[in-house]
Amino acid sequence: MSEEKSLNFIEQIVEEDIANGVNGGRVLTRFPPEPNGYLHIGHAKSIVLNFGLAQKYNGHTNLRFDDTNPVTEDTEYVESIKADIRWLGFEWQKELYASDYFDQLYAFAVQLIGKGLAYVEDATAEQIAAMKGTPTTPGVESPCRSRSVAENLDLFERMRQGEFKDGEKTLRAKLDMSAPNMHLRDPLMYRIKHAHHHRTGDKWCIYPMYDFAHGQSDSIENITHSVCTLEFIPHRPLYEWFIKELEIFPSRQYEFARLNLNYTVMSKRKLKQLVEEGHVNGWDDPRMPTISGLRRRGYTPASIRMLCERVGVQKRDNMIDMGLLEFCIREELNKTANRVMAVLDPVKLVITNYPEGQVEEMVADNNPEDESAGTRTLQFSNTLYIEREDFMENPPKKFFRLGPGLMVRLKNAYIIKGESVEKDADGNITTIYATYLPESKSGGDLSGLTVKGTIHWVSAAHAATAEVRIYDRLFRSENPSAEEGDFKSFINPDSLQVIPQAFVEPGLLQAKPGERFQFMRKGYFSVDPDSTPEKVVFNRTVTLKDAWAKEAAKAK
Ligand code: ATP
Ligand code: MG
Repeated sequence: MSEEKSLNFIEQIVEEDIANGVNGGRVLTRFPPEPNGYLHIGHAKSIVLNFGLAQKYNGHTNLRFDDTNPVTEDTEYVESIKADIRWLGFEWQKELYASDYFDQLYAFAVQLIGKGLAYVEDATAEQIAAMKGTPTTPGVESPCRSRSVAENLDLFERMRQGEFKDGEKTLRAKLDMSAPNMHLRDPLMYRIKHAHHHRTGDKWCIYPMYDFAHGQSDSIENITHSVCTLEFIPHRPLYEWFIKELEIFPSRQYEFARLNLNYTVMSKRKLKQLVEEGHVNGWDDPRMPTISGLRRRGYTPASIRMLCERVGVQKRDNMIDMGLLEFCIREELNKTANRVMAVLDPVKLVITNYPEGQVEEMVADNNPEDESAGTRTLQFSNTLYIEREDFMENPPKKFFRLGPGLMVRLKNAYIIKGESVEKDADGNITTIYATYLPESKSGGDLSGLTVKGTIHWVSAAHAATAEVRIYDRLFRSENPSAEEGDFKSFINPDSLQVIPQAFVEPGLLQAKPGERFQFMRKGYFSVDPDSTPEKVVFNRTVTLKDAWAKEAAKAK
């Protein structure tokens, strides 16, 4: 490895293991999503880390659906998860399901009962919680703890046969009711749930808990490095205890900090509420921090991977600024997105000295950052649309755009001078009149004039209509989950602004969903799947400059 970049702490562990011949130098990681929602950008962090480790050290990654909770899971989620991982650019070695291990996990539980290390509990969830004690006071041992092995085996079998109702019995590990780590106070291994499972159907009515499924699944698959987030640190002793007592493959657990982004929420449970209560238009709403939402918004796989690389692998939780994600996509799109002209808030401009009915073909570079992107032609005529904000009737001193007597260059065309305006009854400008300088044509300007401003335009007779959707942060609060009260009361009511009729270059009618463009001076936009042959729908991915950083600087 002759990499310049210093290793993150998990890479260091892996390299040490390889150097010491641990597991014969083999590296097998896994990504273990619960199929109870769509993946979000936090999951991307885990995907990039797990698949990245395997790629770097000649290993493999399993995709394992952690489907041990029958009530919240669905095959729709399974399919979306697979699509999102592939879109991010990764391929798993095996597609696996924790539910495929239910027989094996049951056998493991029987094994622990046989060793006197697990027992059937009669107490209810509330009673168990009450007996658990607190971090500073020891718990109380349940009377069921002293059941014989034979009785436990019999009861556990009957739990499986469906003899008991939900919550009537549980299986617990026999550890230490006074352990300072609450997770070791006889944790639950199995619970009864008479529910249909998306894969095993009605075969089971008992389901293993996370702690009695995750580590064992890792072990069954011979996972070498099981990487998870920091909240699982207190679960690690249990992870190791089960593996030791069952004498199975010693997978090892390592923890890193979750990725948190500001101005959004990142728990599937909360994202699901936003979808189900109609606060957004589905899991792939471009305002959502889901992979599918970011994709629809115009983010690329590379930009998301870049964010994950830049954030790095940390041992302490922190909050990442949304501006960093936006920086990553700008970096990429500046190099790759073709430039086009789109007028979002149009006002008519008539060039009085340009021959009526004449159409000229102007040549424009597609991308000044990339010569190979080629050129296109734009039709120019005497009637154009320009942005309303590019004209001022009484401009202040440093207004370098159009006004009465002010000159500006029309991008890829001519220099024009503002002359007069026409207004409606409310005093709104309906038409701007200007004159042009024929000798100032772009590419062969002989006017000798230099003007400070250049504005974009489209020819009114040639322009196509587009709907443009402008997005803002989904929440008004930097960390809605940490606020008091319902996180949904911090939703930004102005997070979506729809411009029903913008005018764009006609060539954009052929653009395909997912194609990305820079609207000159306006930002990066991508074509939404809602587009039709008659009307293109664009999503603003991101502005050209970091508007928030500017706001913050102004406030100082
Ligand atoms: P959520 O609370 O959003 O539902 P989760 O952890 O319950 O998240 P899982 O489907 O269990 O979701 O997660 C699959 C993997 O992705 C786990 O290994 C988990 O640790 C990791 N993961 C989830 N959220 C993040 C995050 N914000 N940052 C990094 N990794 C994450
Ligand atoms: Mg989970």
